[in-house]
Amino acid sequence: PPFSSLPLPPPTVANLQRLGYERMTPIQAASLPLALAGKDLIAQSKTGSGKTAAFALPLLANLNPRRFAVQAVVLCPTRELAEQVTQEIRRLARAEDNIKTLTLCGGAPIRTQIASLAHGAHIVVGTPGRILDHLSRDTLALDALNTLVLDEADRMLDMGFAEDIANVIKLCPAQRQTLLFSATYPDGVAKMASRFMREPQEVKL
Ligand code: AMP
Repeated sequence: PPFSSLPLPPPTVANLQRLGYERMTPIQAASLPLALAGKDLIAQSKTGSGKTAAFALPLLANLNPRRFAVQAVVLCPTRELAEQVTQEIRRLARAEDNIKTLTLCGGAPIRTQIASLAHGAHIVVGTPGRILDHLSRDTLALDALNTLVLDEADRMLDMGFAEDIANVIKLCPAQRQTLLFSATYPDGVAKMASRFMREPQEVKL
């Protein structure tokens, strides 16, 4: 189905067209109506399926660009994925003015990240350890967060991030939308979903 069938602002649909997104991929067609209605979502999906837009469009729909505070966090297993996600969010956000997206991963100098955060960001994409590091230094606050994304949740658990993720989520407002994407659905992911999500809708393909 075309993106114009979704409750998206016309400039967003026009931007998608400019990007060459004509019709939704299966994961987008299954996820977007639910996620844009504000539901928590557990979506089974792989890289290359178009999953980034499936969470980025709802995250952008929840965002108030005039509010200068972090309103969305995307947790990713690796720096490479975080950088890809940031690039995709920036392209999808082009329809709106001045939305700032930052990547926060380990292995990059923390001082530079602290300076960037001080200039303000709407969206933060990064690995759980480094995001938790900023939260404990008070260089990042999540009191204005309204969307939390767990991208490649199964890989994050494989990499030992379970505790860091739980600690990041403890600092998120209870009133929020949580979107979880995972290629597989092992027990650990199911546990995380039952602990941290509200009546999640499951999308399997
Ligand atoms: P992802 O699975 O999110 O990494 O996306 C894989 C690639 O497909 C990226 O290069 C996206 O820009 C592209 N893409 C995502 N959704 C669509 C769509 N509906 N139509 C065309 N390309 C898309």
